[in-house]
Amino acid sequence: MKLRKVTAAAAAALVLSLTATACGGDDDSDSADTGSGGGDKIKVGIKYDQPGLGLKEPDGSFSGFDVDVATFVAGELGYEPNQIEFIETKSADRENALARGDVDFIAATYSITDERKEKVDFAGPYLLAHQDLLVKADSDIAEGTDLNGKKLCSVTGSTSAQNVKDEIAPDAQLKEYGTYSECIAGLQSGAVDAVTTDDSILAGFAAQDQYKGQFKLAGLKLSNENYGVGVKKGDTETVNKINDALEKMVADGAWETAVKENFGPADYKYEQAPKIGNIVQ
Ligand code: GLU
Repeated sequence: MKLRKVTAAAAAALVLSLTATACGGDDDSDSADTGSGGGDKIKVGIKYDQPGLGLKEPDGSFSGFDVDVATFVAGELGYEPNQIEFIETKSADRENALARGDVDFIAATYSITDERKEKVDFAGPYLLAHQDLLVKADSDIAEGTDLNGKKLCSVTGSTSAQNVKDEIAPDAQLKEYGTYSECIAGLQSGAVDAVTTDDSILAGFAAQDQYKGQFKLAGLKLSNENYGVGVKKGDTETVNKINDALEKMVADGAWETAVKENFGPADYKYEQAPKIGNIVQ
């Protein structure tokens, strides 16, 4: 926080805003320079509609494993939770959001891939997930079903959509939406036969109260998705700091607490914590 040439009015306004902050409103939307740490905010890209991973709650708070990872990492970088500004980064927007500097880092079910590494750098991985299918509870789609000709839904810019086109079912009728919640709505209405993406994401949706008993995961491991924390290309210093933070999160048990809390309700069988730099192909 810089205090150059503070006019009396500005000083009074500053005192007022500090008082407002101290009086505990959770509203930190414009308190970037008045936080108790005296520092700026850190802008973190997450998903807003993925229960158990990155979810914006009706009261405006955020929950999920990615949110917990991001909060731990931000803490290690010197930011208090009230200094974190969460910003929605949809699958197709992530590389651009980092390149433009809209966000400082991204923790948004963001798989590390060679193609993405041409545009961004990654710390991690911090979770290993697998592509799967979510179908209606009475669907006969299962292991061995030919998905070519089926109506599948995934998200633009995701590895899941790319994998369908490249290898899983190049002749499927693939609908690509902007978010997974739109695909889930399509599954519920019967517009699509299956939603395909990471099992971690699908399990979170299936466990939501409003969908209980309606959907099931096929249980296929169609790919390995190594979740990384995305940072701007070339920012090796931040990558190294985030890798240290992730290692610490695992070592001190915070990683285990976070997976249990966030994936427990969905009964998602998560893999053990990956080693930093260990990408499962
Ligand atoms: N993890 C995959 C990806 O990064 C699918 C989930 C997502 O779209 O965020 O593309």
